[in-house]
Amino acid sequence: MRPVRTRASFDVLVIGSGASGLAAAVAADRASARVGLATKTTVQACNSAKAQGGIQAAFGEDDSPEIHAEDVMRSSHDTANPRLVEVLTSEAASAIHWLEELGVEFTRSNGGYRLARCGGASRQRLLQVGDRTGHAITKALRDTFEAGSGAELAHHELVGLQLGSSGWTTSFQTKDGVVEINAGAIVLAAGGRCYAEAENRGELSTNHPNATGEVTRIAVASGAETRDLDALQYHPNGGAWPATMQGYSIPETTRAYGAVLLNADGEEFTDSLGPRDAVSQAIFDEVEKGKGVLTPDGRPAVWLDTTRITPEDAEISLPYMLRRYRSAGIDPLTEPIYTYPVLHYQNGGLVIDERAETTLEGVFACGEIAGGTHGKNRMMGNSLLECTVFGRRAGRAAEERSRA
Ligand SMILES: Cc1cc2nc3c(=O)[nH]c(=O)nc-3n(C[C@H](O)[C@H](O)[C@H](O)COP(=O)(O)OP(=O)(O)OC[C@H]3O[C@@H](n4cnc5c(N)ncnc54)[C@H](O)[C@@H]3O)c2cc1C
Repeated sequence: MRPVRTRASFDVLVIGSGASGLAAAVAADRASARVGLATKTTVQACNSAKAQGGIQAAFGEDDSPEIHAEDVMRSSHDTANPRLVEVLTSEAASAIHWLEELGVEFTRSNGGYRLARCGGASRQRLLQVGDRTGHAITKALRDTFEAGSGAELAHHELVGLQLGSSGWTTSFQTKDGVVEINAGAIVLAAGGRCYAEAENRGELSTNHPNATGEVTRIAVASGAETRDLDALQYHPNGGAWPATMQGYSIPETTRAYGAVLLNADGEEFTDSLGPRDAVSQAIFDEVEKGKGVLTPDGRPAVWLDTTRITPEDAEISLPYMLRRYRSAGIDPLTEPIYTYPVLHYQNGGLVIDERAETTLEGVFACGEIAGGTHGKNRMMGNSLLECTVFGRRAGRAAEERSRA
């Protein structure tokens, strides 16, 4: 691996080092492209590494890619692109095996994967690596890329994108000024914009500070089409108290393993495993009706009764969450915790086809920056899957394009 400080040129230039960018970079490198991986700050900085809950794939005996696809379409209220959904769900198993080949060890039980049911799903389909799934996936992808022949360009913030006579020219703000890099094909994998959006709204967000959305704006300025960009997702279970947990996303697997939402009177007021938009709205409505609770610092909240999770499930699938709350003086297995929705995910994004190509020839997009796979409402666990499935596709297609 070699650091690049001056003007350079690559077959495939990937922008962003989250799960989708890393998957694209690994796939393009394995296809023998000369790959550059440019990223705004450090290579480790991204939302993907913060993902805890898990990744969906239809491995259950009563499950299939078709049932998975039906769940996605229903959760999206039929706004997702059915062809992208078919690709997502039919390649899920091979994406999991690819990640395993790269070193990810999914939690297993009874001789198979430990599968949980997540919100909006009709089957148990969520694979986990404890509750640090995103960390495990990004680490394996990063280690694989760094063992290959690609170049990492940390502290390269994309500021411009222009079509030239033999491919694309990109401009980056670096510590040494603006640097231009040419590439035969570009993969945009710069994530969503919920951190910036939450700052504008004065709200909490689960997102990494680099999730600011400027790469989408740069692509749009070059003529790329978008869809569903207005549809931002609230995670139903933001941590609301103690203060150190504000903006933390309490894994949805707490509800998969038995936790339920309760109002001030201790009543269940919604299906705790409904689709995300429905659960978040139910919490907003309950608080609006005056049936919520207030945190010690006066924030609106409801209860998440985590005492219903068995200690065994918690130790296997929620160890990080337990550790964080216990170190803040609260044991979720003996007392319920305060929760309220937080801004979490950009459902829409750049329009892509099934090869992950945007409406700009030679510019591909994958992960949260791309739209269509989730329509206006993503199911939990389908983002890491999308990053892997469409990241791989984008890397391979970009390598082909760079040779054309
Ligand atoms: C707390 C949390 C928990 C989650 N849990 C789950 C889960 O359990 N399951 C699931 O499926 N999904 C989960 N998600 C969603 C999922 O993790 C993300 O949507 C997904 O990982 C996004 O991956 P990405 O590669 O598209 O973007 P990111 O991982 O956000 O990476 C974007 C990259 O682009 C870089 N970048 C940004 N702007 C620029 C620029 N101008 N120039 C260069 N580089 C730039 C960033 O620095 C970063 O490296 C969770 C998200 C969060 C925040």
